[in-house]
Amino acid sequence: METRTPLATIVIAVDGPSGSGKSSVSRAVARRLGLRYLDTGAMYRAMTWWMLHNGIDVHDAGAVAAAADKPELASGTDPADPAITADGTDVAGPIRGPEVTAAVSAVSAVPEVRTRLVALQRAVIGTGGIVVEGRDIGTVVAPDAALKVYLTASEAARAARRNAETGDPAVTVGATRADLARRDALDSGRATAPLAMADDGILVDTTEMDRDQVVEHLLALAADRAEGAAQ
Ligand code: C5P
Repeated sequence: METRTPLATIVIAVDGPSGSGKSSVSRAVARRLGLRYLDTGAMYRAMTWWMLHNGIDVHDAGAVAAAADKPELASGTDPADPAITADGTDVAGPIRGPEVTAAVSAVSAVPEVRTRLVALQRAVIGTGGIVVEGRDIGTVVAPDAALKVYLTASEAARAARRNAETGDPAVTVGATRADLARRDALDSGRATAPLAMADDGILVDTTEMDRDQVVEHLLALAADRAEGAAQ
């Protein structure tokens, strides 16, 4: 029997591909357990927004590497209102736009970007009490996390969900699916910290589950690992 971690210091790592429902599920789990929440994808997006905003060629890895230390990034950890700023500007809206989405995988493949953001992420995680979502949380950022979940779903299900979420009638499910597939290939194929499940991660395929079922499933897993997380 593994030792159980106090809820106040637990780290719950939630990794998975785009559109797997990581964000809404991670936020709900954090809220239900009274934990903090960190969206590491938002940090890569904010870095990318800053590069675009400052005229850096995001496809020039050398230029991106040279600028990686420059932006001042701050992430809030309230699951009800996950704020993110770059040089003091609230970028929560713009980081979800198509320009950032198209460029973020290139920026996040640059090792200097990852070194900087992983250090910031570890500083936020601190002594724990947090749900952290991303692509490399269980493998790189917090390999000692008490619970590591890898959320996935079929490409069709992920595209349909993401399309409903963004709610732009001009964007077809087919276009969303192609974009997800493109990002997954880049995120899984990069040399540094590719999207991967930790060896001791728990695979949760959500294709046939609704969001509430996934949340309940993760709460049950957390209750098993953490003291005081009974549902
Ligand atoms: O989760 P989200 O789709 O917002 O992430 C945006 C991008 O940030 C991903 O496609 C990936 O390139 C990058 N990312 C990453 N490592 C993380 C989180 C996100 O490389 N831990």
